[in-house]
Amino acid sequence: MKLLTYSLNGSDRVGVLDEKCLNIYTVEKYSSMQELIESGISTEELMELIKQHKEPVALANVVKRPPIPHPKQDIICLGWNYSAHKEESVKAKGINPGDGEHHAIYFGKRVSATTADGDIIPGHWDITENSLDYETELALIIGKDAYRVPKENAYDHVFGYTVFNDVSARNLQKRHQQFYFGKSLFGFCPMGPFIVTEGEFSRPPSFRLRTRVNGELRQDSSTDLMIFDIPHIISELSKGFVLKAGTIIATGTPAGVGMGFTPPKYLRPGDVVECEIDGIGVLHNEVK
Ligand code: MG
Repeated sequence: MKLLTYSLNGSDRVGVLDEKCLNIYTVEKYSSMQELIESGISTEELMELIKQHKEPVALANVVKRPPIPHPKQDIICLGWNYSAHKEESVKAKGINPGDGEHHAIYFGKRVSATTADGDIIPGHWDITENSLDYETELALIIGKDAYRVPKENAYDHVFGYTVFNDVSARNLQKRHQQFYFGKSLFGFCPMGPFIVTEGEFSRPPSFRLRTRVNGELRQDSSTDLMIFDIPHIISELSKGFVLKAGTIIATGTPAGVGMGFTPPKYLRPGDVVECEIDGIGVLHNEVK
């Protein structure tokens, strides 16, 4: 089932898309995606709800909004979760990743509002200089609170998946010696266009991810190559705190980010970034 948030006559609504992704059945019972997720409603119950419904609205006639326009909490991100991206990062930064056992790298990305498919990514050029970068990532949305969840039950806590662009200012990352500021500028959380519910996919799901900038293919990989998989992430984090329903976890980006090219291929004003995940959709945003 594909779910979305959209705006009609100035107010946000939640809807279910039909098979062809042309029409939306509004779910009037919930005022937001967050509320729908927290309710714990199943896809079967959602189907029943929309069956009783009046006429659908055409997707073409509404304003697309991010699936979760105002997340309750910051986004949890993973760094270096694909070996090839780790290699390109280490090379570009001229650093030593160290030896020994490696653990997942987690960090927070501050967000007050996410960015919809079709909206602008603001470049913040006065502080980002020429170092704005893209990172296509599979984001998972937690469906029910997770605390001390064993790996074998992890998928029971996943509501669904969406496409996420972990927009990053590399100069700020480097200057401040951590991810937080450089990844948290306003507008750096494009997500969508839809959430596809977990039940649509196998366990583990296998997604092909691609990024195009002005049509040029930059990233092309598969979530099969993730170093730390979804059960690992949910199980590990939930040992230490509650992953609340509605939490967004961005699972890391594969190789092919702008920083990884020689010379780097950073984003410039007017560039159009397309982040695509097969089975979910394409997230398009112009940089301004
Ligand atoms: Mg990232």
